[in-house]
Amino acid sequence: MNCPKCNAAMEKVTYEGVEVDRCTGCQGVWFDFREQQQLKNVKGAAAGIDVGDPAAGQKMNEVGKINCPRDGVLLTRMVDLKQPHIWYEACPHCYGVFFDAGEFKDYSRKTLVESVRDLFVKERK
Ligand SMILES: [Zn+2]
Ligand SMILES: [Zn+2]
Repeated sequence: MNCPKCNAAMEKVTYEGVEVDRCTGCQGVWFDFREQQQLKNVKGAAAGIDVGDPAAGQKMNEVGKINCPRDGVLLTRMVDLKQPHIWYEACPHCYGVFFDAGEFKDYSRKTLVESVRDLFVKERK
């Protein structure tokens, strides 16, 4: 799998038994839906996985219109109303989420999975 933003190879990173994909180039992190669910109860997961340079992540944040590395669907840019400085991209098809380096650490809210899922479920009704 290649990074949806910079096209570098993604490497598998395992943290507390949960496997995620991290870009070897921009250090962005891709989470499949089930990975997010597994991770939400793992303490310190954000710091353990999101090791990239936030400054580099910020640069990559400006790359818009990216496609899901799993199924090619155009990702939707999401903004958290409580933390409007953080943008991330989510797939409306498989519910995967891409965080630029530094963003996941910033945004390690427990309810992330629920908020992403609820948003899409509401939109589909
Ligand atoms: Zn990348
Ligand atoms: Zn997808």
